Amino acid sequence: MPLNHLPTAELQALDAAHHLHPFTDGDALNAKGARIITGAKGVFLTDSEGQEILDGMAGLWCVNIGYGRRELAEAAARQMQELPFYNTFFQTSHVPAIELAARLAELCPGDLNHAFFNGSGSDSNDTNLRMVRHYWAAKGKPGKTVVISRWNGYHGSTMGGGSLGGMKGIHKQGGLPIPDITHINQPDWWSEGGDMTPEDFGLMRAQELEAKILDLGEDRVAAFIAEPVQGAGGVIVPPATYWPEIQRICDRYEILLIADEVITGFGRTGKWFGSQTMGIRPDIMTLAKGLSSGYIPIGASMVSDEVARTINSADEFAHGYTYSGHPVAAAVALENLRILDEEGIVERAGSEIAPYLAEAWESLGDHPMVGETRIAGLMGSLAMTPDRERRAKFAAKEGTVGLICRERCFANNLVMRHVGDRMIISPPLVISHGEIDLLAERARRALDETF
Ligand code: PLP
Repeated sequence: MPLNHLPTAELQALDAAHHLHPFTDGDALNAKGARIITGAKGVFLTDSEGQEILDGMAGLWCVNIGYGRRELAEAAARQMQELPFYNTFFQTSHVPAIELAARLAELCPGDLNHAFFNGSGSDSNDTNLRMVRHYWAAKGKPGKTVVISRWNGYHGSTMGGGSLGGMKGIHKQGGLPIPDITHINQPDWWSEGGDMTPEDFGLMRAQELEAKILDLGEDRVAAFIAEPVQGAGGVIVPPATYWPEIQRICDRYEILLIADEVITGFGRTGKWFGSQTMGIRPDIMTLAKGLSSGYIPIGASMVSDEVARTINSADEFAHGYTYSGHPVAAAVALENLRILDEEGIVERAGSEIAPYLAEAWESLGDHPMVGETRIAGLMGSLAMTPDRERRAKFAAKEGTVGLICRERCFANNLVMRHVGDRMIISPPLVISHGEIDLLAERARRALDETF
């Protein structure tokens, strides 16, 4: 029986009794009870107490077209009636998977013309990890197995995705990282750049990749994976010198470049893909989240002609998921892409929304406790600091101030995330100018109440 009619306290008690939440301190949550979200429209969520909350995070960086689009529900219903499931293993295919693969080939830059479908961002990166090793083995270089990634990068929380990521809290649990994955430092100038100029720092951090390759031997390195703009690590927009140097190094040493576009894909940085914003030419791109605007789970590994040719001509790639290319998920993703394209949402996000959001966001930089604001398209962060000049950190345990500020945002009916003592936004791409004003007003109030 649906439980919508139950009072909030009863829902919270059932939640505490039976539901284990991801990335959550269970006892702490259960002591106060989860906020129960019951509906959503546009950029606003509604909770079980009838409060309207501005979702500054587009769910988890994913509801790019905003909430409440009937067309996606109708696409799912149509597909469920026509063909609710069939697999793409064992010599069969179906129209939604074919159509989505072809559409993604049109949208993705360069010759990323081939889609391997997955169920999420994490398992897309697991696919990538196995695929790059299979690729090099097929090319007669089975020794190229090491994948290099970055500390504080995020690539999911499965054994593969969590190992590729450089989150120490994740590595601490469950035996990660798995072998043959190694990390270099991130290009976070504000936090780690010291007296260097951002340009020199970006170059130095990129050159760590070259040093790592030379240290390991280029015949050992399969790929480098990174997010064009780090999201979960704190919206880290690299200095302009960073990506050109990374591209040069990958080209020079024949290292596959994997752009993890789970957040930066589908308009988040103001262009269809973060690789276009950063001017890079990946061999593989990880997609999820905005691919369906989060309405249904789906992920994809988009690979170049050369990678696809090699995989196709090698022994069978013994990898895949029951739900690879799920027809209902593919139909929803196709409808989402149609809306993003035909309604000019990506174009407008880049030309109209991003500049307005940047101005509103940067205006928070005059708050006495804000050290730095940064923004790339529609993903932004601000660092809270006790001393802007020295780019200092708070004496309290890292993240304490961020947690308080996040709570103050929530109390003011605004969802912002915190990463350490940095506040993050990533609103739906359809946010209006008036809603951006509201977001900035609530964020300022939360900052005032934090200090
Ligand atoms: N890669 C990046 C860049 C992400 O931000 C995320 C999730 O936030 C993932 C991978 C993992 O995706 P999922 O949570 O769908 O497994």
